[in-house]
Amino acid sequence: MEGLTKKQECASAFDAHHAPSKAIIEQCVHCGFCLPVCPTYVLWGQEMDSPRGRIYLMKMASEGAAEMNATWVSHFDSCLGCMACMTACPSGVDYGKLIEATRAQIERKTERPSGEKRHRRFMFENFTQPDRLRRMRLPLLVYQKLGLQTVARGLGLLKLLPKKMQTMEALLPKIGPREVVAQVTPAVGTKRRRVGLLLGCVQREFFSQVNAATVRVLAAEGCEVVAPQEQPCCGALLVHAGEEAAALVLAKKTVEAFERANVETIVTNAAGCGSNVKEYGHLLRDDPVYAEQARVFSAKCKDISEVLAGLEPRAKRQRLKLRVAFHDSCHLQHAQGVRLQPRALLSSIPGLELAEIPEAAICCGSAGIFNLVQPEAANALGDRKAQLIQPLEADIVATGNPGCILQMQSALARDGQKTRVLHTIQILDASIRGESSGSLLR
Ligand code: SF4
Ligand code: SF4
Repeated sequence: MEGLTKKQECASAFDAHHAPSKAIIEQCVHCGFCLPVCPTYVLWGQEMDSPRGRIYLMKMASEGAAEMNATWVSHFDSCLGCMACMTACPSGVDYGKLIEATRAQIERKTERPSGEKRHRRFMFENFTQPDRLRRMRLPLLVYQKLGLQTVARGLGLLKLLPKKMQTMEALLPKIGPREVVAQVTPAVGTKRRRVGLLLGCVQREFFSQVNAATVRVLAAEGCEVVAPQEQPCCGALLVHAGEEAAALVLAKKTVEAFERANVETIVTNAAGCGSNVKEYGHLLRDDPVYAEQARVFSAKCKDISEVLAGLEPRAKRQRLKLRVAFHDSCHLQHAQGVRLQPRALLSSIPGLELAEIPEAAICCGSAGIFNLVQPEAANALGDRKAQLIQPLEADIVATGNPGCILQMQSALARDGQKTRVLHTIQILDASIRGESSGSLLR
């Protein structure tokens, strides 16, 4: 048991399995430095929807002074898990560990309404399985290519669908050709590293061009790239939603797949997945078989921008005359502490002008499944971000997470902006391949 003594456990609303750590809860000195960066506090100004308020609610529950009733749960459901509060906190409160433990308790100890349960099950069963996502590609391709999407949106027919389906439809990516990444891609020239690539689920099926660009750039920079085809979903969505048991199964399979690949570094290019796999050591900490393997695995994981920042550039960057606004994904900037490296990559491209988006610390509203389960709040955050981007007159918004790409595309379109949203690595890949700026804008 973690966080609770035997006596506290009797009074606590939490069960004994990985209860939110009392020691971390006590580290919060209620200073409020985290409030201005917390998206839900920014939107609603309610103490209980701030990091400080949520930590207080955890404390009350752990002391048996609050029940885990629907109101209590709602304050945690509305947390985006963006970790902006961790970056802002001068006391080093590890809110990430607290919210992960709290959410697992909620899923074990409370019962969600049946409609909500069905919706969550649909997302977890489909979004964590690449083969199921692949089967969705054809109907979606037909829907888009035959112009049915344009007609349905234009005539307002989507309003006839249930709200949850409307929300998903609004976030659909543009379905393009599926680019398959080889099991092993040799380095161009002398090999400098042998790296593995985490393919992701949504990334693999709906942003396969991002994986393909990642492999090309790594190879051009002298890396042999191994992409184990048997790797499952890493379980990020499940961990962030408190579905601990299912997440552990996927974590173990992922560790095994990369052990067989025998690589020095495991490259991630989806910030949500990256922050998850870097925490496998914690997730599997008390597993008698996998604890040590998971710790070793996590220590090898790096975002693509971190990997490239550690390699002296070898491939020549060609000129791209573009103005690019960089959008920090929360799971990159707050959860992984990666802010400078993607900016440095973009700045290394001749002709490219980098623009900073104000309020960079605040989430765009994507946050795993947040924009599907809390669409009003997610849209409000997306709209706020779109309005901050508009005066920058950028050609492209660059970011490092597929969820942010979908959320920003949808928010910019709602605001009538035509700015494209791309992964940072796609821009670097285009520069190395000598493509024109125009090719990125189509
Ligand atoms: S994780 Fe984000 S939404 Fe949740 S309390 Fe922290 S800042 Fe607020
Ligand atoms: S900044 Fe840290 S210590 Fe201060 S209220 Fe927020 S979580 Fe607590």
